[in-house]
Amino acid sequence: MVGGGAPVSIQSMLNTKTTDVAASLDQIEALRRAGCEIVRLAVPDEEAAKGFANIAAKSPLPLVADIHFDYRLAIAAAEGGASKIRINPGNIGGEDRVRRVVDACKMHHIPIRIGVNGGSLDPELLKKYGHPTPEALVESAFSHIRLLEKYGFTDICVSMKSSSVPLMMAAYRLFSKQSDYPLHVGVTETGTEYMGTIKSAVGIGGLLCEGIGDTIRVSLTADPVREVVAARSILKACGLRSEGVNIVSCPTCGRTKIDLIGLANRVEEALADCKKPLTVAVMGCIVNGPGEAREADVGIAGGEDCGVIFVRGELREKVPYDELLPTLLRYVEKL
Ligand code: SF4
Repeated sequence: MVGGGAPVSIQSMLNTKTTDVAASLDQIEALRRAGCEIVRLAVPDEEAAKGFANIAAKSPLPLVADIHFDYRLAIAAAEGGASKIRINPGNIGGEDRVRRVVDACKMHHIPIRIGVNGGSLDPELLKKYGHPTPEALVESAFSHIRLLEKYGFTDICVSMKSSSVPLMMAAYRLFSKQSDYPLHVGVTETGTEYMGTIKSAVGIGGLLCEGIGDTIRVSLTADPVREVVAARSILKACGLRSEGVNIVSCPTCGRTKIDLIGLANRVEEALADCKKPLTVAVMGCIVNGPGEAREADVGIAGGEDCGVIFVRGELREKVPYDELLPTLLRYVEKL
């Protein structure tokens, strides 16, 4: 489910060739293990449409077919087991063709995502607004929505992506004041992992905190698994997912007397696959340490070459530095 009060879902897009069924299924499995819930695949030609159907027959996750220009590929994907079609009705080639895609989606009970992108806005809107503006993105989305509604189709999800964070945020805000259609939220062409994650955290996370967004895609110039890891962290930071460990750790300062940065990284790595909804605090000293450590499910407050461990507010033991990680993991195991 996307929209209608369903939890915000995580999606990503394969970067394998859709014609390579085995490699695509491998990547879908890697994404699933990372926490991905919906996967999109490019369907650029007939061969890819055949590959899509073969992948869909075995995929553990629902698949979205990403279609540009050729309405016949959208119909083939709908018939080949797609759970959603992503099109830009403006480039599918005339109303009659849009209607045929709509008919196929109706027959297979699957939604259409209208994917508006600041980088490929209709020339008329560009002329009207001068350059991609929030109003131009929203107007483009509504003109496509009206086209689908004209043929009695309302099973619609909308995205209005841009590589500019303030622009996409303004567009989604503007749209959500005027419509209840579910929103697929993302910043596009964000760059490599570090900056792309920051842009996505601001753009997607900012909107989610305002209650805007039903499904998200972090897009990174990186392994798609990293997109899913970032998406999960964004949902966690927004308080929308409790599954998995939330690490609270201090920035360290002149009072720190243990290798806290190394310890915090090792704790994060050791608990990366832990699905328990726990808060684990890794704090450097006795100033703020005991307070945070006490509030957490399990917490460490560092001392001189040692640390104390709190479990749900109770001081349990004082252990040497080298013993802090294994001791913490033992307590996490028990919770
Ligand atoms: S918790 Fe202690 S060590 Fe960490 S930043 Fe605060 S004062 Fe410094």
